[in-house]
Amino acid sequence: MTVNYAVIGHPIAHSKSPLIHDAFAKEAGIDLDYTRVLAPLDGFEATVRDLMSRGFGGANVTVPFKFEAFALCNVLSEQAIAAKAVNTLTFKQGQIFGDNTDGVGLLTDITQNLGVSLEGKSVLLMGAGGAAYGVVLPLLKAGAVITVANRTLNKAEELAHTFNQSAGFFAKVHASTYEELRQQAFDVIVNATSAGLSDALPPINQENFAKDALAYDMMYGKETLFMQTARACGAHVADGLGMLVEQAAEAFWLWHHVRPKTNPVIRTFRAS
Ligand code: NDP
Repeated sequence: MTVNYAVIGHPIAHSKSPLIHDAFAKEAGIDLDYTRVLAPLDGFEATVRDLMSRGFGGANVTVPFKFEAFALCNVLSEQAIAAKAVNTLTFKQGQIFGDNTDGVGLLTDITQNLGVSLEGKSVLLMGAGGAAYGVVLPLLKAGAVITVANRTLNKAEELAHTFNQSAGFFAKVHASTYEELRQQAFDVIVNATSAGLSDALPPINQENFAKDALAYDMMYGKETLFMQTARACGAHVADGLGMLVEQAAEAFWLWHHVRPKTNPVIRTFRAS
């Protein structure tokens, strides 16, 4: 029996999600029809209800609808609540279950694919937008000590406050301006800003990279200025392709209860 899933966004033509889910389904022997759905900017909820009425099992959600998806769900996972955003919807008996798999995607890529443990490591998270919110909880759970820096400081402070309030973790999230970071070195630097989209660079400098630091850019598909700078500072560099595939794998697991092999898919995309 064919099962129907989708990815909803605006725009959506660029999305690699159908290719990733198709590859996972082929390997798992699941008859999957996974389509791109362009929702009108004012029509996200109507689009979701339409998919539900047509028997879809769920949908991924991408820009700009992750916050609307959060508001629409009947039941939210711990990760979705922490992120205040949803990228994976599951439809069951007329109810909408919401999850956020971006954070698990990043964590799996860093710890398993790249082999970097985060236990006790200092992590600089650059940016305080949706992507940053999505990854804080898994990073904290993995034992990272997080400093969040943002161009607009009050957004970094708000993020830190949100997680420090709800936490129960030993480590607190520190908020900082980029200027205050001078002389501070970090084991892992995650670029969760959208600066790369406009070929800009968040203002980091050489001292921010500890010896053997990992520099992780959530962007994929091009060598960003951040990646170039990190390389010049001697850091190990990774882009966000692994995160993209791993967040899809987590959604695939939620929907089909099968853990797909991700490395062959990452390799194929990297080669293409
Ligand atoms: P948002 O628009 O929610 O947030 C953007 C953030 O970037 C803000 O903190 C903003 O700072 C900061 N920023 C933008 N331009 C600059 C600049 N020139 N210098 C410094 N900071 C800047 O975006 P998202 O959080 O949704 O996405 C961020 C990135 O993560 C995107 O590139 C996206 O493609 C990527 N991403 C990758 C995923 C993957 O699977 N690999 C998954 C999700 C996202 P301010 O608050 O001051 O405006």
